[in-house]
Amino acid sequence: MKPASRTALAFGVSGQDGAYLAKLLIDQGYEVHGTSRDADGSSFSGLRALGILDQVRLHSATLSEFRSVAQTVQNVRPSEIFNLAAQSSVGLSFQQPVETIDSIMHGTINILEAIRFLGLETRFYSASSSECFGNTEVPANERTPFHPRSPYAVGKAASFWAVANYREAYDLFACSGLLFNHESPLRPTRYVTQKIIQGAADIAERRTDTLTLGALDLTRDWGWAPDYVDAMARMLKQDTPEDFVIATGVAYKLQDFVDTAFRCFGLDWTKHVESDSAFMRPSDISRSVGDPSKAKRLLGWAATTKMPDLVDKLVEAELIRRSLQIR
Ligand code: NDP
Repeated sequence: MKPASRTALAFGVSGQDGAYLAKLLIDQGYEVHGTSRDADGSSFSGLRALGILDQVRLHSATLSEFRSVAQTVQNVRPSEIFNLAAQSSVGLSFQQPVETIDSIMHGTINILEAIRFLGLETRFYSASSSECFGNTEVPANERTPFHPRSPYAVGKAASFWAVANYREAYDLFACSGLLFNHESPLRPTRYVTQKIIQGAADIAERRTDTLTLGALDLTRDWGWAPDYVDAMARMLKQDTPEDFVIATGVAYKLQDFVDTAFRCFGLDWTKHVESDSAFMRPSDISRSVGDPSKAKRLLGWAATTKMPDLVDKLVEAELIRRSLQIR
């Protein structure tokens, strides 16, 4: 069955990446459809913040039910599908391993199976993760072996191989993006980057004096979310489906992120930040950094924003939000 041309369906459009991806695709002239588990109940705050809520056609879909996924795909007949929906917090995945792995694996398999079952020539992007690699002593590339260290990563690794298998066995145009951490003002505060920015802003406003975090010596490769959705869109415009590592290629310690953020507010982080083992994970990744050279070579993609500039953007957005009293 031929899909409708330039029609995209994003599962999980209510999240950070869903909002930026929808904006990018609308700007590229696509008809954009998106799902939430409860499209009537979701606030779609990201789409609202980007001013595109009325330009996205919204659907409710249950990723764990094949019938729900297949019906949505059949109704929309998209030329491109992006699966962004999942329980996406690594920390929470240790408390909810079954829900997390289930949300990632079943969602991916059900979409792959719907495309195959309906005989659609739809291209499929699956949101995999740098977490699949575990610790990366040297920057990870597309040939680096996986060593998942959380239930979240186990689910992402399994769905990565499901995508590869459907590509090889059924000739689907399906690819996975192994994306390293990417941030934006649309991230909720349960993620450490927003927790740091908002914590520093609260201390600067004297609402509190202390910010409590977990391990501070972790090293991460942080990028800017709008760059990363651009990479997703480029992957589906290739002649052949392939998997890509998407990263800035530069790693910083969490402590450096904290220092940069606190300096933006004129604060010395050492006077305000404490580390509590209660916030540490049962098994964490100490160093995570990616090698994006394949993406540069084949997609013409490179990160525009690395850590210090990323912090500037997040702080600027937080200051605007506070000046408008949107909290
Ligand atoms: P978000 O958490 O912002 O959005 C994920 C979406 O998934 C939500 O909008 C939510 O929609 C849906 N969702 C949440 N829980 C479940 C569940 N149990 N079952 C089905 N759907 C669920 O994530 P991001 O936008 O940041 O990330 C998009 C994808 O990319 C995710 O799969 C994430 O794991 C992956 N990823 C993200 C990275 C990052 O740094 N941001 C890095 C690497 C990978 P609703 O509640 O409306 O149904």
